[in-house]
Amino acid sequence: MVLSKRITSLTGGGSDGWDVFLKARRMIADGTPVTELTIGEHDIRTAAPILQAMHNSAMDGHTGYAMVPGTDALRDLVAKRTQDRTGVPTTRDNVLITPGGQSALFGAHAAACDPGDTALYIDPYYATYPGTIRGVSAIPRSIATRAEDAFQPRASDIEAAAKGAASLLINSPNNPTGTVYSRATLSGIAEVCRRHDMWLISDEVYDSQVWEGEHLSPRALPGMVDRTLVVGSMSKSHAMTGSRCGWLIGPSEAISNLITFATHTTYGVPGFVQDASVFALAQGDRFEAEVGAPFQRRRAIAQDVLEQQNTVGLIPAQGAMYLMLDIRATGMTGDAFADALLEREHIAVMPGESFGSSAAGHLRVAMTIEDSAFKSALETLCAFARTCAASAT
Ligand code: PLP
Repeated sequence: MVLSKRITSLTGGGSDGWDVFLKARRMIADGTPVTELTIGEHDIRTAAPILQAMHNSAMDGHTGYAMVPGTDALRDLVAKRTQDRTGVPTTRDNVLITPGGQSALFGAHAAACDPGDTALYIDPYYATYPGTIRGVSAIPRSIATRAEDAFQPRASDIEAAAKGAASLLINSPNNPTGTVYSRATLSGIAEVCRRHDMWLISDEVYDSQVWEGEHLSPRALPGMVDRTLVVGSMSKSHAMTGSRCGWLIGPSEAISNLITFATHTTYGVPGFVQDASVFALAQGDRFEAEVGAPFQRRRAIAQDVLEQQNTVGLIPAQGAMYLMLDIRATGMTGDAFADALLEREHIAVMPGESFGSSAAGHLRVAMTIEDSAFKSALETLCAFARTCAASAT
């Protein structure tokens, strides 16, 4: 039987840049110890009290079909969290609960784009972005950024691609770069969106992990509330990646249509997961800060290690759980360096090329292992880079 082009061409063909990751997984399965700095997942598990709340809810019988848009309690809390953080009036009518941020990204593009529409996104990018756009039969078009701008997008580059585009997807704090978009960057982006009547899809799943500066949601900028769809999630802020609970915030008309979309696709999120999320959100900002604290600590460790040498450059990482390292001084591509580092030192990092061409010659390091092992892995990486640079000259 013939499968649809939509499903068979989701990844766009060719290598998806995850070869090093898969090789590391194979080495681990074969018994070789590998230091894994690839995946954006905490080294802690979901906190026991949250699991207890999930258990209690399930035992109380919340195991049937849940409300498709989300329970009133969870939608109200998400609306409150959003309003408290952004100052933008937000009610449950602006909130759809989704199975994770990924499902919210899909829904947002389904709402913003018709088949054949152009959907813009910023390079480097979170790995699923182009496939998510193809998943709604829109055409992904990337906008390059530059290492020398710390990967902050330039409004002029977006302007050059904006004519006729239906949407622009941005992500701050950013995976893979750790960049937090400045007010100037976001104001420039908002202006282009208004001028070209584009939807702005703002992926803010790392909003509670900001180590320098402040997180600004572009929905709060003038003239943006009616054209911005915000993606949020419990995954990163509350170490609940496996629970699959996220949300979309947007104008009530968009949310009302997205509820119909959810009815015909996901049919909502389990009630016991939603109840656990209510419990988790009720713990407030302090809990979210505790979940993020290890990344802030390890970022400081990395800054110390990298200051001791001058082969590997650190892109100023202001947020999220990643570092972007510049290894261009070795003369190697990110792919070649990551492969050699895995072979020789048994350390797995993601080549920048896995996230688009703007991050070529870079590595993404996930700060997701215990502090002393993290420090030692970075020291080894820097020493290895020095050897590579020396043999290149
Ligand atoms: N957006 C970004 C930038 C991410 O890094 C991730 C996960 O790594 C997601 C969205 C999806 O997260 P989830 O579906 O677990 O909420």
